[in-house]
Amino acid sequence: MKAIVIGAGLGGLLSASKLARNGFDVEVFEQLPMIGGRFTNIEYKGYKLSTGALHMVPHGPSGPLAQLLDDVGAEVEIIRSNPMSSIRIPINNDLTDYSQGYRDIPFNHFTKPFSLINRFKIAFYTSYTKLFPPNNGSFKDWYTKHLDEDWTHRIAESFCGWSLSLRSEELPVQEAFDIFSKLYRYSGSGIPLGGCEGITRSLEKVIIENGGKIHTNSEVTEILTKDGKACGIVCEGKKYSADIIISNLGHKETLPLCNSMENDPEYIERVNQLKPSAGIKICLGSSEPLIGHSGVVLTPYCQRINGMNEVTNTDPTLAPGENHLIMTHQCIPKDKLDSLEKEIEIGLRDIKTMFQGKDYEILLIQSYHNGWPVNRAGSGQDIGNSTPVQNLFIVGDGAKGHGGIEIEGIALGVKNTMKMILT
Ligand SMILES: Cc1cc2nc3c(=O)[nH]c(=O)nc-3n(C[C@H](O)[C@H](O)[C@H](O)COP(=O)(O)OP(=O)(O)OC[C@H]3O[C@@H](n4cnc5c(N)ncnc54)[C@H](O)[C@@H]3O)c2cc1C
Repeated sequence: MKAIVIGAGLGGLLSASKLARNGFDVEVFEQLPMIGGRFTNIEYKGYKLSTGALHMVPHGPSGPLAQLLDDVGAEVEIIRSNPMSSIRIPINNDLTDYSQGYRDIPFNHFTKPFSLINRFKIAFYTSYTKLFPPNNGSFKDWYTKHLDEDWTHRIAESFCGWSLSLRSEELPVQEAFDIFSKLYRYSGSGIPLGGCEGITRSLEKVIIENGGKIHTNSEVTEILTKDGKACGIVCEGKKYSADIIISNLGHKETLPLCNSMENDPEYIERVNQLKPSAGIKICLGSSEPLIGHSGVVLTPYCQRINGMNEVTNTDPTLAPGENHLIMTHQCIPKDKLDSLEKEIEIGLRDIKTMFQGKDYEILLIQSYHNGWPVNRAGSGQDIGNSTPVQNLFIVGDGAKGHGGIEIEGIALGVKNTMKMILT
């Protein structure tokens, strides 16, 4: 059986590895000169920055992605973050800004400023919603009804911005609790040694060792069909035939490549409702640790930045010499997409206030929207991996599995796709 994969992002590489390991004759076509899409490294001044991700695997060495990597025989080491996360709060009494400094509270043993009653409420709702997950409205509707302290609202907002690049009002409550239940099941994040590239290079190795081919600088311009079934592609004017086609481009981006899908108005309507999520990443280099641990730091009191990490506490090779690499992330709400420069300016101001007196440099500022977003379909919107065309499947962050944060969702989507193809 012959399989063609369009796009060598994480979703495409995971699918190609799994199929190659299962005896398929696999060819991957990637339009860029390099593989990895939004999940690979960029070298700059000796730092290993990235094309997208913050070098973090949301559920570390035990989540769906780690399981799939293990299943295909990819050699990757993912080190669990410790602590899982902390919350950065200002030390001044009224909690209004960071101008007088800050302190970090490890998430798992925070005591103040949560009141005792709210801590009881959180424990109660966590157990209750595990048994009876809420199923309508947004996560914001839910928490404003059930938790009454400003602190809890701010943490919820920075969690959604950091891990999903969404505002809590855009996240369906059912998806939020699906995510929380996976956090309980698989625990928190980890960092792959070698950063994002550590994962994508190991998948490339699996594909090649199992007889697969990867073509770079190869843009696919058409998906061919016959009698309602996908049967090949056109790349750089040449036709290639296949039994199975997997597109790593998301439903929306695959649609214009395949004329046959235009005959299904219901599918087109569902696809048109998918909305990408947008964000800004700011990379800092520092001669001293600015965080001092390998977990996520949520920043509920920043104006724009939702969170940050310092991955060099796990993998020092991601920065030159003894230096550290710190990455901040902020989501761009839909109504702010027209004022990107202003959003960046406010993010930079947050950094200045948090790190006053520290020795750091801004290495790179990247914004993610339009054709290169944070997620092609925001969490909770995904419409599955099949299409109206038989044997044409969609993988990647435009078709995640429910409850999967970012690349964990990609892994769940690939698993669903493989179930349809291999059984
Ligand atoms: C700022 C930021 C921070 C993030 N942080 C994290 C994080 O820490 N942890 C995490 O889990 N996730 C994170 N994510 C999300 C994660 O990076 C993405 O979800 C993931 O990399 C997307 O992978 P993909 O396979 O869906 O798509 P992509 O990486 O976009 O791959 C698609 C590939 O298809 C190629 N392509 C497109 N059109 C064609 C064509 N016609 N022919 C051939 N090739 C084509 C593209 O060039 C690309 O290489 C982050 C994202 C961003 C932007």
